[in-house]
Amino acid sequence: MNQAASWAKRSAAAVWHPCTQMQWLEEHPVHLIQSAQGAWLVEEQGRRVLDAISSWWVNLWGHGHPAIVAALKDQLDRLDHVMLAGLTHQPVVELSERLSLRTGGSLGHCFYGSDGASATEMALKMSAHYWRHQGQPNKNSFIALAHGYHGETLGALGVTDIPLFRTAYAALIRGAHTIPAPDSRIPGSEARSLEALATYLAAHQGEVAALILEPLVQAAAGMVFHSPEYVRAVLACCRHHDVHVIADEIAVGFGRTGTFFAYEQSGITPDFLCLSKGITGGFLPLSVVLTQDPLYQAFYAEGVDRAFLHSHSYTGNPLACRAALAVQQLFDETGILALNQARQAQMAQQVAPLFAHPRITQGRQRGMIWACEVIDPPAHFARRFHARAWEAGVLLRPIGHTLYFMPPLNLTGEELDFLVSRTLETLEEVLA
Ligand SMILES: *Cc1c(COP(=O)(O)O)cnc(C)c1O
Repeated sequence: MNQAASWAKRSAAAVWHPCTQMQWLEEHPVHLIQSAQGAWLVEEQGRRVLDAISSWWVNLWGHGHPAIVAALKDQLDRLDHVMLAGLTHQPVVELSERLSLRTGGSLGHCFYGSDGASATEMALKMSAHYWRHQGQPNKNSFIALAHGYHGETLGALGVTDIPLFRTAYAALIRGAHTIPAPDSRIPGSEARSLEALATYLAAHQGEVAALILEPLVQAAAGMVFHSPEYVRAVLACCRHHDVHVIADEIAVGFGRTGTFFAYEQSGITPDFLCLSKGITGGFLPLSVVLTQDPLYQAFYAEGVDRAFLHSHSYTGNPLACRAALAVQQLFDETGILALNQARQAQMAQQVAPLFAHPRITQGRQRGMIWACEVIDPPAHFARRFHARAWEAGVLLRPIGHTLYFMPPLNLTGEELDFLVSRTLETLEEVLA
């Protein structure tokens, strides 16, 4: 047995892997990664594999970016961790100020957690607690979009509508009211969704605290797009009915959709903004909820019972915040969003051969997200495609029949060519 196979075996025995049927690892063992640089993962003996999904959408600048590494090394010599109750530190202050600045100052208060699901939970709790402060404790239910994904802890699962993640735990969660999902591919779906929202709010606004959505792209649903006008209409409708909007930009924030935040394209600012995944460029776990001032002010009072009572041990960890600051710095220094904007036409041309494949339909792109549907896929398509693509040198994990790329923002033209050609090659093999 070679070294990688032996580690895979030990991993399967001792590590319970996420989102995985462990029995499948007998046929498809996990791959041992030795190192990573840029868009590339490196296996034993130096074989390189292109990480075309930024390792579950977190490695925004690829792996091991020297600027983030340098910032972390500097931070390691200064301060590892300190609790954030009664104490503070420079990275968390600077990061909060910079994120707030990105919203034009309108979301000026940052509350930190360690992962995306806890950001969802914090926003849900803040919203319901706010209404309680306003003397409306009955406003404590939530509206979510069909097929939406907001994390898998029990509270977050309540607003997540993906049966695969939810069914087994249904008895443990308090569900939300679900409105039909908008989908740019289905004419009239946005209008139908908005109509359902307006009808529901007209009858139930006294019970609803907030609506939660992933602006522009329902990612885990299979990269389902909707228009900025839809987001704008949702925000306007909720505001009209005195209901908060929580923008879950855990996946789509930080330039993924072409603008720094996806909600910007709607022209309206949400009440809460949840961020995680790309925030530290994949170096350390961190999440944050940004909140508007009037919401924050409702908690600002004499008694501790008026405060937002929520905490995590690692809240605002200095190392994570420092990595996040380095990520912010990279946006400023590289002008990556403008660069990619200028590359749009070129990139569309590069992906065209894939979208033109006879067994591919509904090719679509938004910012640095590409997706398409495979026509008439064979059984266990996603699993088989993932396995063959790895052999061909790319990390891809289709969602059902949906094939997608969400590579680092700084992917080069040559890397995109490599990705497209290896994807086509894999497609031929899997469909044969
Ligand atoms: C990944 C994701 C989450 C959950 O984040 P975790 O860090 O995995 O808990 C929530 N919302 C969206 C939109 C996501 O993509």
